[in-house]
Amino acid sequence: MSDLLERLQAIVGPDHVVSGEALEEYTHDATFLESPLEAAVLPGSTEEVAAVVKLCAETGTSLTTRGAGSGLVGGPVPLGRGIVLGMERFRHLEIDAANLMAVAGAGVVTGDLDAAAAEHGLMYPPDPASLAISTIGGNVACNSGGPHCLKYGLTADYVVGLTVVLADGSVLNLGGKLRKRSSGYRLMALFVGSEGTLGIVTEVIVKLIPRPRHQATAMVGYDTIEAAAEAVRTVLQSGHFPAALELINREALELIRDHLPAGFKSGHEAVLLIEQDGNDQEQVLLQLAEMVELMGGVDNRVAQSGAERDGIWRARRQFGHILMALRKNVFSEDIAVPISKIPEMVHRFHELGLKNGVSLPTVAHAGDGNLHPAFLFDDDQRHLISPLAAQIFRDAVELGGTISAEHGLGALKRDFAILEHGSEAIGWWRRLKDVFDPQGLLNPHKVFPEQPADDHFLDRQPGWGKKLASGRDRSEVSA
Ligand SMILES: Cc1cc2nc3c(=O)[nH]c(=O)nc-3n(C[C@H](O)[C@H](O)[C@H](O)COP(=O)(O)OP(=O)(O)OC[C@H]3O[C@@H](n4cnc5c(N)ncnc54)[C@H](O)[C@@H]3O)c2cc1C
Repeated sequence: MSDLLERLQAIVGPDHVVSGEALEEYTHDATFLESPLEAAVLPGSTEEVAAVVKLCAETGTSLTTRGAGSGLVGGPVPLGRGIVLGMERFRHLEIDAANLMAVAGAGVVTGDLDAAAAEHGLMYPPDPASLAISTIGGNVACNSGGPHCLKYGLTADYVVGLTVVLADGSVLNLGGKLRKRSSGYRLMALFVGSEGTLGIVTEVIVKLIPRPRHQATAMVGYDTIEAAAEAVRTVLQSGHFPAALELINREALELIRDHLPAGFKSGHEAVLLIEQDGNDQEQVLLQLAEMVELMGGVDNRVAQSGAERDGIWRARRQFGHILMALRKNVFSEDIAVPISKIPEMVHRFHELGLKNGVSLPTVAHAGDGNLHPAFLFDDDQRHLISPLAAQIFRDAVELGGTISAEHGLGALKRDFAILEHGSEAIGWWRRLKDVFDPQGLLNPHKVFPEQPADDHFLDRQPGWGKKLASGRDRSEVSA
């Protein structure tokens, strides 16, 4: 056994160093990228993480942190080989109801955090569709979002404290159980969304809010996707503010059809899923009815029970899992544009798909202008898909948007960062990276552009996996 493995075992114990065949689990995320690695280490405390990081610094070994591996941009794929640091043993969770806070180990599953808050009448709002599998540490690293982020905000809006292990093995305790603070630099904000490139988050403190007692949910159908997009703009500019406003196009509806409750199995070109919440049931229903009226559409249906509402959301959340199980490569766009540009953006990618004969199943956190057109393709089609995916990035940026609203840049989108942020801003990112990680050991080959942002970016991915060839699917990420 190599010296490195022996020294890792001495830190975390022999049972918590993974090697051999079991390493396969740590080679990939929910995309088609994969990479071999030396070892996976599963530390059980911040002190153990610090000791592992010090060893990596001493030996020049690169280190990639992994939550649940549900990332959609190759973030936890160990492209620098080296070691993967799995956070699955960081599962401690305390709900501090008196202070409306939760203290969670980085490996706590997002949905478990919210479920524990619910027992106290509280809510942790950021709700990625992957909430049954993804970890709070992964959510912090990617600044994840979900349907209810329209009204309640993203992960970054809830993080008030972090424990972070830096690249030299020192430990930084940031923030605390405070809802306000105006004293000094907001260092914590640097780590939220930095995708494991600046430090390793071991513990998170998040704010909680009182859980709304009532929800009302409806689906509205449209003859064209453009009409649905116009309705999004109409609602948001009307003075109403829904709790969630999601768009699902025909191709996506076909995929989730069997999961929708009876009566909601739509064959429309697009539907909008709208929800309002609050503590006054009558008001909630009234507001929903007013919004549905404004939204027009060819028909609509309001969920008549909690079971129907849950059924609709379960089907919506199944979408990503169904894509993963299709045994195709999936490239999920995650663009966002300003509210006023939503119809234009929807029109552009819809036309692009039609013109090129490519089916683009699409779900969207439409109220946030955040659209997820998904490319499904076999290995030999990537040269065809790459220019189309690049065009969507370019269109989003041209309309004042972003190439990644909630998934991060990882490996798959990093080369396009320059298009959105420009070289000056990225120069400052590099300076920050050099301050926090001068050896460049933390999650190498992620976030920072390495190749030209052109039509061949998917062809050039270094960690292209053998998923299709080996017949392995990624449905194991399903909840
Ligand atoms: C079916 C499906 C649906 C999804 N739906 C959504 C959605 O609605 N919204 C959304 O935002 N995302 C969604 N995602 C993407 C994914 O779930 C999120 O990006 C999530 O935050 C990743 O969490 P994870 O624990 O799986 O992290 P991983 O995938 O393991 O890692 C993601 C990134 O975070 C870093 N990281 C992980 N843990 C830590 C840590 N403790 N410290 C420092 N860095 C760390 C990794 O290095 C990597 O760069 C979906 C994914 C799937 C498969």
